[in-house]
Amino acid sequence: MSLKRISLLGATGSIGDSTLQVLRKNPDRLKLVGIAGARRWRELAAIATEFNVAEVTVYEEKAFAEAVAHPELFPKGVQLYRGMEGLLHIATLPQADMAVIAIVGTTGLEPTLAAIEAGKQIALASKEVLVLAGKFVMKAAAAKGIRLMPMDSEHNAIFQCLDREPHKHVEKLILTASGGQFRDFTISQMETIRPEDALKNPNWDMGPKVTVDSSTMANKGLEVIEAHWLFNMPNERIDVVVHPQSIVHSMVQFVDGAVLAELSPPSMTFPIQHSLFYPERIGGVHTAVDFSQCLRLDFRAPDVERFPALALARRALVQGGIGGAIFNAANEVAVPAFLAGRIPYLSIPKVIERTLDRVSNFEPGRLEDVISADGEARCLATEAVKYFER
Ligand code: MG
Repeated sequence: MSLKRISLLGATGSIGDSTLQVLRKNPDRLKLVGIAGARRWRELAAIATEFNVAEVTVYEEKAFAEAVAHPELFPKGVQLYRGMEGLLHIATLPQADMAVIAIVGTTGLEPTLAAIEAGKQIALASKEVLVLAGKFVMKAAAAKGIRLMPMDSEHNAIFQCLDREPHKHVEKLILTASGGQFRDFTISQMETIRPEDALKNPNWDMGPKVTVDSSTMANKGLEVIEAHWLFNMPNERIDVVVHPQSIVHSMVQFVDGAVLAELSPPSMTFPIQHSLFYPERIGGVHTAVDFSQCLRLDFRAPDVERFPALALARRALVQGGIGGAIFNAANEVAVPAFLAGRIPYLSIPKVIERTLDRVSNFEPGRLEDVISADGEARCLATEAVKYFER
């Protein structure tokens, strides 16, 4: 049995936590060799101690300084790094076989590309990486002969359903969505949604940004764009269906009309263990769906009137060029503005729409073009937030 050595970027986040559960269950198969987190340095110290990790990055300056002042909380001989340089170091550790990229937002882009360049296997949970720069990331991976393992539950499900089927056999991808906690709200109920309401998801335990994105369906919008890049599918062949139970994680419909689905309880450990061990399968952290219990699976079409973020993401995808980057940047500006109480809940998609209207699109020739477009979109989104401020 071979031992796979893992570097984990985003170790203190929700995906990081589920990844650690899979590592704990498989100590003779998986070895953690490097970890990175943004600011929760005490948690990083605890993880480093538990897994005896010698290479640790604390991304944020202040947290890094505090970590350096407390060497006694880390294992003996630990090396501490900071900033983007530190993320790149962990992403490209010579002793790692695989880099798990689970950083929220666009910070994961450079480390992902560096890990590909270094020839690492990649397990990707940061959907923003593909939404922002799918064209460049997929090209870089193809050039190195690396298959990106999708850790996002929907994309991992599609990967499993597609396994070894030729592209021409596929009619369409069907992404499932929980629909978020407001799926049955009327527009007038949605007007009064407060930040604390949007931070609760009944099915999935996720970080705050993804939880809000899930409630607005901006998350599903990002996932449509992500699916486009991962599986080389156009917008019109990627369906979204609301499935409140979050048991069917996504489906693939083939040209003969057959539909394959992947079912498991809503825990991220399922897609994570699949990504880490593929093509092998091993005993899971959690048990499978129990069909002896009364199991109800509902499906319905999403309502883009109440959840316009999904339609806006499709508009961005069809636009092409830097559309995905604009959508993502505007959403990343709008969500914190809502959480800070600056704009109402229903203004999140309005900020995205106004930003999409105002940024002029173009086909990026280089990665730098995408990064500067991301910056410009953030400036315009910040102006849009001011426009919609209460
Ligand atoms: Mg997902």
